Amino acid sequence: MTFFSFMRGLTGALYRERRFTAEQLRAHRDERLRTLIEHAKTRTRLGAEKLAHIDTSLPINLAQIRPTSKAELLERFEDSIVDGVPTLEEVKRHVAEHGGGTHLCRGRFTVATTSGTTGRVGYFISDRKDFAEQNGALLARILRHRLAPRDVLRFSFGRRYRMAMTIATGGAFITRLVADVRPFLTGAFVDTQTFDIMAPTEALVHQLNLFRPHYLHGYPTMVEALAHERLLGRLAIDPEFISLGSEPVSRRALSAIARAFPRAQIAETYGATECVAIANQCSAGRMHVNEDLAIIEPVDAMGRPVPVGVASDKVYLTNLVNRAQPLLRYELSDSITLLGDDCPCGSPMRSVRIEGRADDTIFLADASGQFSAHPPVPFEVVFLGVAGLRQYQLVHERQNQLLVRVVSEDGVDAAEVARGASQALTAYLARARLDAEVEVSVELTDSLERTAAGHKLRQIYSKVPRPALAG
Ligand SMILES: [Zn+2]
Repeated sequence: MTFFSFMRGLTGALYRERRFTAEQLRAHRDERLRTLIEHAKTRTRLGAEKLAHIDTSLPINLAQIRPTSKAELLERFEDSIVDGVPTLEEVKRHVAEHGGGTHLCRGRFTVATTSGTTGRVGYFISDRKDFAEQNGALLARILRHRLAPRDVLRFSFGRRYRMAMTIATGGAFITRLVADVRPFLTGAFVDTQTFDIMAPTEALVHQLNLFRPHYLHGYPTMVEALAHERLLGRLAIDPEFISLGSEPVSRRALSAIARAFPRAQIAETYGATECVAIANQCSAGRMHVNEDLAIIEPVDAMGRPVPVGVASDKVYLTNLVNRAQPLLRYELSDSITLLGDDCPCGSPMRSVRIEGRADDTIFLADASGQFSAHPPVPFEVVFLGVAGLRQYQLVHERQNQLLVRVVSEDGVDAAEVARGASQALTAYLARARLDAEVEVSVELTDSLERTAAGHKLRQIYSKVPRPALAG
C-alpha cells in the first residue's frame, strides 16, 4: 500500500526533524547511505563497478565514489537499475503511450522525465512505495512549522481547504506525480485541484479565479507569471500559502510573487526529478537540506568540495530513498552555497542557499500590445514532446521573435526533428493566440555552446528587456 509508505515518510520526517539532534540525524543518514551502497553494489551493474572498493563496515567517504552524469546514466540505464525494473526502451514506450504521470509502468513504477538544466531529456524511475515515502516526507517538510493541530481544525470544520497545483498535467513530470500520489489529501478536508500550465494563461487565470485557492503550488517561474497577472488585475485570487518547487527560485521571481500576493506565506522547496525533496524552507526563511532523504555535495567545476559560504558550480546528489534506480553522487548543474549551522528555527539539518534558475521568462505581446508572461516550464513540455530531439535552446531574439536551436538524436532525420520543434512551438503559440504575432525560426546545430559564465546551458533565455510591470 502506498498509503502506508506515504504516512511513514510523513511521520518519520516530522519525528526526525523535531526529535533528532544533528548527530542522530547524521547517524541515521549514514546508516541509510550504507544500506543504499550495499544494495546498489549487489543489485546493479553500475553499482558493482563503481562501489566495489567501498568497504561498508568502515565510515564511508563519498569522495571515493566516481560521480555519475546524466549522459552516463542514460547511456547505461540498464546497468543503473535493479532486476525487475523496466528498461529504458520500455520506459520510453510507456511515456509515449501513457504520458507517465499517475499511470504506473508495470503497475508498480513511477516514471518521470526531465530536461533539467543540461537540455537533455532524462528518464527516472522509482518504485511507487519509495516514491510515496519521499512524497510524504516532502509534505512534512513543506509544512514543517505549520503542521499544528489548530491549523488542521481550522480547515476541517466550516470550510474545505482548497489546494491548487499548477502543474504540467499532460506529461510524465515529477510535480504531477507529487500532486496525484497524495491519497489522503483528496479526502474530506482538502479539495485538491490540478491546473494545467499548458493551458493558455487566460484560461488558467479564469479557472483559478473560480477555484479561489487557499494554497497555491507551482513552479516559481509559473507563479511569477501568475503574479504578473495578479498585478495586472486579471487574476483575483488571494492565497494564504504558496509553495514553490521543482526549480530554484530567483530573487526577481520571489519579489514579484511577494508583491502580488502580500497575504501569502511563501515556502520554497528545492527538488529535482531525480529527488523530489532535496531541501525545504523553514520559518526563518532558510533552506534546510533533507539530510535524512538526500545527500548533496556542492562542488566546483573540477568536482572538488567548495567551502561554506562559496557558491558551487554543480552539485552531487545522492538519493537515499530510491532503490529501483540507485543514484549516488549524481551530477546536477545547480549552484548551491552551504551556510553555517546556526539557524534560529533549531532544525538539526544544514541550511543552504540555492541560486536561481538561469532560464528566463519570456514576455510576448499580443496584437493590442498587451504583454503576457511565458515561463520556461511550458516550453520545456513543448520540446520534450518532440520526437528525436536530443537538446534544444530557445532564444527570444527580438520582441516577438523566437529562435529554436535544435540538436537531433543520432540516426534520425534532423530536418524532421526541426520541423517537429517548429510545429510544437507554433501550436503552443496558437493556444495562447499569439501565433500571428510571434515569428518562429529553427536552426539545426551539432551541439549547443555553453555560456562562458558558467557550466549551465542557458536553455531558455531572452535578449529582450522585460516590460515594466513584470517587476
Ligand atoms: Zn531554519
